[in-house]
Amino acid sequence: MGKIYIIDVTNRDGVQTAKLGLSKLEKTLINIYLNEIGVFQSEFGFPTTHHESLYLQANLELAKMAVLQPIRLEGWVRAVAEDVETAFQLVPDIRHLNLSISTSDQMINGKFSGKKQKEDIVKMMVEAVEAAKSCGAETIGVNAEDSSRTDLDYLIKFGSAAKEHGADRLRYCDTLGYDNPFTIYETVKALAENIGMSIELHCHGDLGMAVANSIAGAKGAIDGGQDAYINTTVNGIGERAGNADLVAVILAIIKSKDFATKYQLGNPIDLSKAWKIAKFASYAFGVPIPINQPGVGANAFAHASGIHADGVLKDPANYELYDFMELGRGEPEFVETGREICTGQYGGISGFRYVMGEIMGQTAVSFADAKEAREILELVRYANVEAQKPLVEDELTFITKYPAIAKKLLTLKPLG
Ligand SMILES: [Zn+2]
Repeated sequence: MGKIYIIDVTNRDGVQTAKLGLSKLEKTLINIYLNEIGVFQSEFGFPTTHHESLYLQANLELAKMAVLQPIRLEGWVRAVAEDVETAFQLVPDIRHLNLSISTSDQMINGKFSGKKQKEDIVKMMVEAVEAAKSCGAETIGVNAEDSSRTDLDYLIKFGSAAKEHGADRLRYCDTLGYDNPFTIYETVKALAENIGMSIELHCHGDLGMAVANSIAGAKGAIDGGQDAYINTTVNGIGERAGNADLVAVILAIIKSKDFATKYQLGNPIDLSKAWKIAKFASYAFGVPIPINQPGVGANAFAHASGIHADGVLKDPANYELYDFMELGRGEPEFVETGREICTGQYGGISGFRYVMGEIMGQTAVSFADAKEAREILELVRYANVEAQKPLVEDELTFITKYPAIAKKLLTLKPLG
């Protein structure tokens, strides 16, 4: 019986969203939180993009140091052999890739303007898979962009060729959010049966069905005899109407009616980290969590009307499907209402010592020597230059704990 794994794409689809972005330190924290929650794989960035190189290398170092373990870190690359080679030149230690190319007639004609035919697309993808293999890739996912508008026979041909040349998964991309749970189930089941390879579900919310489509697609993959890998983003942040929300997908898998009796997660998930990651992503992206967001919205456990309040006070199960504690909620949050000392890009050593002391529960933190304190402060200043907002505790703690990694993350060298 196949299982369901989560591949989170916040650090790829999330950050490529119009008007939104994350600093390299924020992306790193997202990877750390995804690892804590038990996400199988993070699509952690773009290995052919120069300003990502040091961030990607630094995160692979964190993996070697067992800070980012057991999560798998995978990069997104166009299914073009030269791009794969560039990825390995810029990020030599990368071992997991997803290679993406458009497969629908709409996109093949609409994007390549008659210069590429369907056979050329398969050929390009195969060359990219072979390049990835010869460069040392350990796992390869092949993304069929616009799968939901691609005819099934061609998708089977595309997926079979990928498998034949050593790919490990086919990413079924409902790029425009065009599917519904019934269509995606049938299509993905047929793909799993005919290709015999694990299927990723990459769903968008243009019709409000990203989460429903993700679990219907996962059911299709498993009924077709394969594992399912659901793509998520934290708070559903992604292109246009967004992607399938990480927390909502996990809740749908483990809490929806009868689903988990047959369709189960392949590795343990610690849902109690849900609140922390959702809050951090909201702060880092600068996008509030909707009040009615499943699990983590401000109203997810709020009751006002007489009948509901009375019912939930008598027994929470009357009006709550799951407990807020399961999501890591319930702790009071401290908000300063008086004097506040912040660190920033123009901050000094005294304020910095005070802030770090607050975090560590002391009046002032002590560093090994003044030189160490100044060095950490300098890194904090640079992190602030990049983030343009006060750093959160976990960011300050990260910099203090891993200054060499932080320095790498914060190093940007335009044009060489
Ligand atoms: Zn997408």
